[in-house]
Amino acid sequence: MAKAIYSTHLGFFDILPDESPKWRALENIIHEEAAKFNFEEIRTPILEQTELIKRGVGQLTDIVTKEIFAFTKGDSNYVLRPELTAPVVRAYVQHHLGQRGGSQKLYYIGPMFRAERPQKGRQRQFHQFGVEIIGSDNPIADVECIAFMIRIYQRIGIQNFDLKLNSVGDPESRDRYKEVLKDYLKPNLSKLSELSQNRFEKNPMRILDSKEPEDQEFIKNAPVIGDHLNDESTEHFTRVCELLDKLNISYTLDPLLVRGMDYYTRTAFELTSSDLGSQDALAGGGRYDLLVEEIGGQPTPAVGFAAGMERLLIACEELEIKLGSEKSVDIYLVTLGEKAQTWGIETLSKFREMGISATMDYMGRSMKAQMKDANRENARYALIVGENELETGLLTLRNMEESEELQLTIDQVLGKFRS
Ligand code: AMP
Repeated sequence: MAKAIYSTHLGFFDILPDESPKWRALENIIHEEAAKFNFEEIRTPILEQTELIKRGVGQLTDIVTKEIFAFTKGDSNYVLRPELTAPVVRAYVQHHLGQRGGSQKLYYIGPMFRAERPQKGRQRQFHQFGVEIIGSDNPIADVECIAFMIRIYQRIGIQNFDLKLNSVGDPESRDRYKEVLKDYLKPNLSKLSELSQNRFEKNPMRILDSKEPEDQEFIKNAPVIGDHLNDESTEHFTRVCELLDKLNISYTLDPLLVRGMDYYTRTAFELTSSDLGSQDALAGGGRYDLLVEEIGGQPTPAVGFAAGMERLLIACEELEIKLGSEKSVDIYLVTLGEKAQTWGIETLSKFREMGISATMDYMGRSMKAQMKDANRENARYALIVGENELETGLLTLRNMEESEELQLTIDQVLGKFRS
């Protein structure tokens, strides 16, 4: 016998049959709510060119410097996609989606890959759902994004979350703020972490996102962007807050929130939950008005968010929220002997054509073993058929829940399920 091969790659998980119903239930909720918002689904490849992710997510981000799974094939460099905003924008530009008119309101569900240190709530393959609204700079788009995100958690019954909100400003405000921030950090530059020192010239705002202990003291007292926004950015942010208030969506202003990607402009937000432990971020997003142009399109404003699906399911577990139904089948055919099996496989298709789920034993087991299996499969009914039953035409239909049995012809059984 060949040696068994088991996947032991930490951070990569199988979704097993007992768990897949909750994944499907979650996906169904996302599809249903997206339809209510009139968002359209987009599916892009798992692989993207490295250059896109570097340009889109940012050369100096943790994702690009440490976390991408990259490989080369022929002359091309590829990565397993670590996020979907840059790929969706690539698709938007490549297929001229803007020409469909109006803003493109897109959503997605799918796996992402980041070579992070695995721990609870942090995998190397994880799943996100998210929205990208491309083409509008109206705060309505920001708020629709946030409202959709919140709606998913509320519908599932996760109420205990905190929406953190900030504006990271438009390019003019950011340039102004970057100078202020650099002036503040410069005298202590040598005391900052090496990573932050590297970011100082090119992207000083990312220093605010640093988790390095030696940076924390300087981050805590840093000037905040909110004090350096120009009128347009302030107006935009005020309107976002006003609309959120109108929708009764509560939020906390977090002047240090800059998020992990370089592409954010103006609105930035994060959703955290105290039901989650140390990896407490459920979702995050914001505006990225410069990204479409960066990726080769016309200047086009956009806003979006991404939410971790494993984290949402962990929160469900903590709160004992059950997603998805127990496995069950409408009817289990207990067949004894080859003739009954032949009759059984034909009859299965009759039930299935009627929209009734039906199964039978594939292993030629005893009646007792088949009844046990019917129980294990949570069958609502068992239909018992041996050679005798085929001859007399009278079959035994057992209601598994009520343990009641009826002697019926197959037409009577089919009639009962049809009604
Ligand atoms: P980000 O794309 O980094 O803004 O992340 C958005 C959301 O995806 C986070 O709030 C998490 O819920 C989830 N997420 C990000 N990275 C991981 C990971 N390695 N494992 C599990 N979930 C993740």
